[in-house]
Amino acid sequence: MALELIIGPAHAGKIAALYERYLAELAAGRTAALVVPDQTAKAVTERELLARATGVVGADVVTFDTLFERIARATGDRRTVLHGAARQVVLRRALPDAPATLAARFDRLGSALLGPDDVRAAGDASLAESYALWWSALDEQQFVDRARLRIEAIAALRRDVAAWPAGEALFAQGFDDLSLAQETLLTLIAQRARAVVSLPYEAGRSPFAVLTPVVGRLADLAGSGGIVELPAGAFDRDPGLAALERRLGEAEPDRRAERPSLAGIATAEVEGERGEAEVVVGCVAEALRSGIVGQRIAIIGPRGAADRTRLVRQLREAGIEAVGKDQRALVKTPFGRALNALLSLAWAPEPTDSDRLTWLRSAWSGAPAHLVERSERPMRRSLDTLENAIEKAGEPLLRALALPPGSRGGETAAGEVAAAVRGMVQRAHGDRAPVATAMVREDVAVAAAVLSYLQTVDGVKPAPSRSEVRELLAELTISMRQTRADAICILDPRDARTIDVDVAIVLGLEEPMFGVGTSAAQDPLVEAPDQNEVARHLVYSAVTRPRRRLVLVRRVSDDEGSPLAATAIWEDLMIAAGEPPPTYRRRFSDAVLPLLEAPTVRERARSIAYLAATDRPEALRLAGVAGVSGAIRRAVAAPRRNTRLVDPRVVDVLRAREMFGVTEIDRFGDCSQIWFIERRLRPNVIDQPIDNRLRVGTLAHTVLGRFYKEVPALLQTTVIGPDDADRAMVEMVRIVDEEMIKLQPIVAGDPLTLELLGWGLRRDLARLIQQAARNAAPLVPTEFEVAFGGRGAQPGRKEGLNVGPAHVSGKIDRIDADPAFTARAMVVDYKTSTISTGAQIMRDGKLQIPLYLLALREVLGREPVGGLLVSIRKGHVRGIVDVDELDVLPANISREDRLSHDEFEAALEAARSEAAARVLRIRDGDVRHDPQTQMLCERFCDYRGICRVEK
Ligand code: SF4
Repeated sequence: MALELIIGPAHAGKIAALYERYLAELAAGRTAALVVPDQTAKAVTERELLARATGVVGADVVTFDTLFERIARATGDRRTVLHGAARQVVLRRALPDAPATLAARFDRLGSALLGPDDVRAAGDASLAESYALWWSALDEQQFVDRARLRIEAIAALRRDVAAWPAGEALFAQGFDDLSLAQETLLTLIAQRARAVVSLPYEAGRSPFAVLTPVVGRLADLAGSGGIVELPAGAFDRDPGLAALERRLGEAEPDRRAERPSLAGIATAEVEGERGEAEVVVGCVAEALRSGIVGQRIAIIGPRGAADRTRLVRQLREAGIEAVGKDQRALVKTPFGRALNALLSLAWAPEPTDSDRLTWLRSAWSGAPAHLVERSERPMRRSLDTLENAIEKAGEPLLRALALPPGSRGGETAAGEVAAAVRGMVQRAHGDRAPVATAMVREDVAVAAAVLSYLQTVDGVKPAPSRSEVRELLAELTISMRQTRADAICILDPRDARTIDVDVAIVLGLEEPMFGVGTSAAQDPLVEAPDQNEVARHLVYSAVTRPRRRLVLVRRVSDDEGSPLAATAIWEDLMIAAGEPPPTYRRRFSDAVLPLLEAPTVRERARSIAYLAATDRPEALRLAGVAGVSGAIRRAVAAPRRNTRLVDPRVVDVLRAREMFGVTEIDRFGDCSQIWFIERRLRPNVIDQPIDNRLRVGTLAHTVLGRFYKEVPALLQTTVIGPDDADRAMVEMVRIVDEEMIKLQPIVAGDPLTLELLGWGLRRDLARLIQQAARNAAPLVPTEFEVAFGGRGAQPGRKEGLNVGPAHVSGKIDRIDADPAFTARAMVVDYKTSTISTGAQIMRDGKLQIPLYLLALREVLGREPVGGLLVSIRKGHVRGIVDVDELDVLPANISREDRLSHDEFEAALEAARSEAAARVLRIRDGDVRHDPQTQMLCERFCDYRGICRVEK
């Protein structure tokens, strides 16, 4: 007997060839098993076999685990096979301190045919000890788990001829990641019976590199006569998709196949999860409109639907049912939370109010929602106890609190949970067969998952206690897969390997490894294939699934706006597709779709709201048609709404504040809405270029700080005068270069941007330093980044500046002090934005410099002589100075900024009063549309789209 190996690329007809041989084997009256990866594939395969023959007798479609169990039974093994909850309980009893991942690790060791002795020989004594303990615990109770069964079945097959039914053939399909146990089983069967295996493989092509070792071993066994190599077939596929398959991963794709026509291939570059969801919903809607049914459309991406809640929600909002292998922890589902609460009511000696309320609020208690709310309301205001409230509500709530029969006082804890679960479903949906709504289907699926999980503990002695059962429920993960036949599937690439669809939308192509290599399935003791090769093979499988249309989707930035570079996998796909331009682009800024293309209610409302800015009557008419009148009317009326903050939770926080930042108070003076947006709403900045103003400002601050700390010492001078300017410039350039090296390019084009940024910085700082040298003053820079107020300040400065109702904190960029040890000092603040003149500081209520000067005097103990703002970009120097102190100040101070001593002191006190007034307004939530100037509002403010000022 020998092995027959059927290989070929995707769509070569391998499965058809395998089914043909399998049906012929059955037709000849011989027995044969057909192995498939899992239960889902089993159902699909059985349907496929029936579709190919008028009748099938003796078909035996199984998984590998079933085969291992059969082999054990054939050799007289009668032990109970432990799995699911039962295995968890026995394992925890045997190894109470073991980590939760140990069960999965034993599983991997079993698949790699490694027993405790092998693990010890491999050098992991502690794991070997736990592993041996686990096996003895199994032996004590006459149990075996599936992992151990694999090892023992292979051993039985090697030594006992009766382990496999004489002459029974074995066929295998759908495995491109055979474990060692599975591969060994195939080779051992092939030595005594017919074995036929189909594998996706084409020699020399990189997408199949991961399979080269296993194909090599199986090919040796098959011999040249046993290898059937099928060529790529068309199989009614779009010619562009067929060409893409031929070209993918090829060093010279044009020699392998012509550039594909792009009729069947689309590419999408999207920003963030929202962009991805919108493009995908649009593509699915387009496919459905073209007449393709839901089952023939698949969305394939790493982790399936697990990380894509937004996509699933938007598909549902668009009226498109989507199903995915959605694994969720039971305790995180509403059903799980309600079950937990019910078990507390049944088992806890004194159930808490929170448990009672969780249960009553749930849909499975049968309590009328309005009565629960009415009972809860006085409790929230501490006016009544829940006990009294329930009593007042009477019969309906008392009935809901009655425990389902059997949920307390049952024979076993698992039995009590089963009774509770049945009671929940019955209360929510009644005794008779309910109408199969989505909610009923979901409830039944969750209830069935819990019951079948707990059923596995039936044979465990002693029966699991209540606390053990609770632990099991806390760990239970259930599949939320729904059963609507016309739903779109959202699949992980591993689950999509054998599907056949018309349209496939492949997501996650921005992930360098396409989701591979992140799982805990790596084990140092188990040889694993190269993860890069696994990823490339999965990408190949995913893009070769559709017959009509393939959409390749890549996120070009994450949800924070950080760019995501194109991966090697994406570049390979683009080369194979002939470098097409993106068919779809979706940026963060593309907030509005054309109304006719908006697939969901939310997007239609957004489009209509956009129209309302220019054509209000038409927008209100369309809103009526789209059923979003309320939302649009509210949006249209928004500019007229009161802007004062009234939510007690917000106002309470503001009232309790003791410390306010200088820049915050200053910003409040520009416009209190700006303060609200920047300090309370805090919208995230996206698409931030590497040379943005903030980064330039930070860099300039760092360079200037270092310059004034390092260079005077290097030049052995306290004041850098005109004679030192040239040497000082050399040092400044050095510091800029050292700081620039720390900036990493993020996207293509950044190296050039960074070079320009460095060049601009050297130019601006050179101008500043030359100016400072020309106008050298007796006061010299002595302190930098001086904090006052708050935890970051030095002891003695933490209280900050007292302005009356509160204290103020801040950080002064630079303090220039008198080297002659008088108390006189000046503050300097660097700006990358426009700076205010002395007149503007006093007229427009710009508080930063006056408050810094007050802090200089009252917190830092120096006598202020002036405060200057220095524009890094333009080299301008403005501010306010005391004209009586000009002898220690720089020479280039504008005449307009020189104040008499009395004016100077009055400016400082006026700033204190204004700061106090603003603090009181902030504490009061007094937010208005009150821009300092109309020009700020109309031309310069970034928040016009947010603050709802009437336009
Ligand atoms: S747009 Fe005008 S009102 Fe609105 S935040 Fe800006 S300055 Fe204030």
